[in-house]
Order: sequence, then C-alpha cells, then structure tokens
Amino acid sequence: MKLESVGLLINLRPFNERDCVARVFTREYGVLVGMMRGAVVAKKNRPLLGQVGVAVWNARLDTQLGVFHWDAEKNLSAPLMLDSVRLMCMNSAFDILGTLLPEREPYVALYDDTCLLCQKLATGDTGAYLDWEIGLLRELGYALDLSHCSGCGGVDNLCYLSPRTGRAVCADCGAPYVNKLYPLPVNLNVTLRFLESICAQQGTDVPYMRRMLKLI
Ligand SMILES: [Zn+2]
Repeated sequence: MKLESVGLLINLRPFNERDCVARVFTREYGVLVGMMRGAVVAKKNRPLLGQVGVAVWNARLDTQLGVFHWDAEKNLSAPLMLDSVRLMCMNSAFDILGTLLPEREPYVALYDDTCLLCQKLATGDTGAYLDWEIGLLRELGYALDLSHCSGCGGVDNLCYLSPRTGRAVCADCGAPYVNKLYPLPVNLNVTLRFLESICAQQGTDVPYMRRMLKLI
C-alpha cells in the first residue's frame, strides 16, 4: 500500500540510534504513522517538527507500521523558534492532533487550519490558537454555538456554555445549573474542559504541552 500527499510533520520520536517514528498530518489521508529511516543521524535534509512537504508512505501490509519518504519543502516552525509562547502553541496543536485524530481519516479543513495557525503564529498572532482549538472542537463534533440561548432562544445576557451541547445559555435559564455550566466568554480554560472530556472518552490524557499553555 502506497499513499502520497502533502503534509505537516507533527511528531518525531527516536526509535533507535538512527531512525525515528514520525507522525505526518497529511492533507489527503489525515494522520499517517511510519518510520523515517536515518532521521536521527541525517546531516542534510533532516526531518524537523513543523516542516511541510510531500510524504510518500509505504506499508507492505495494511496493519504494518509504514515507512516514509519525506521531502520537506518549508519549515513553518523556523520563525517561531525564538518565542516560547508561539512555539508552545504550535507544539500544543501538534500534540493534540497526534493524540486525538485517528490514523488515516482525512480532516482537510483542519489540515488547512493548522497550516494557517503556524503562519499566523509566525506573525505573532497567538490569539489564533484559540480560534484553531474552537475549529478543532467543531471537527470533533463539538461545534460551539454562541448565537443565542439554547433554553429560551434569546440573544441577551449569554453568560454560560453547556458542556453537553456546546451551546450558549443565558443568565436566567442558566441560574439553576450554574455549577454545571462553563462561564463565557470562551477562552483556553473553557476549550481545555472540552478537550478533557474528549480525551477522557478516548481513554487518554490532554497532552502535557496543552496543559502548560497559560491563558494567552
Ligand atoms: Zn435563555
């Protein structure tokens, strides 16, 4: 089986003294996992986190760990290296994708959003990270709807968010359930709570890098 697509290198982990196991978020096939031979020792064309390029993924059997041929075109992380907050945002996004996305299921909009996030981070727009996470939640089935109250339909005094539906709730309708609702506005604390519940459902933990991300 051979798959080829543009992609973003989101995880690279040494497998032995020469090779790495890599995760590439490809535009056409979603997350692919495979070996990058010689990635640890490469002097030229060394694979790096945040590179975009063309991935060719080969596996003899469907269930096997594939092997990548990786042709990097550009390193989106290079402009972020000197700023720890920007870098943390990128690493958090990559770790969340690596943790929550199933292998070989395409998420084209999320792929484009993630490339855009890296470009925005490079310009110093760290606020783009929250937008990216809201987009991620939508892709995973938790579309936040802040247009009106899910109880009465009103548009005033929207103070809360329902953790179950992701829809806004006004002050009056929310009053009896204050302890169970998330406060608005949506910020990284609110999206973290959604991420925690999605991770719990998948039997995994919110990535460390995401937990370290302070309110920005
Ligand atoms: Zn209401």
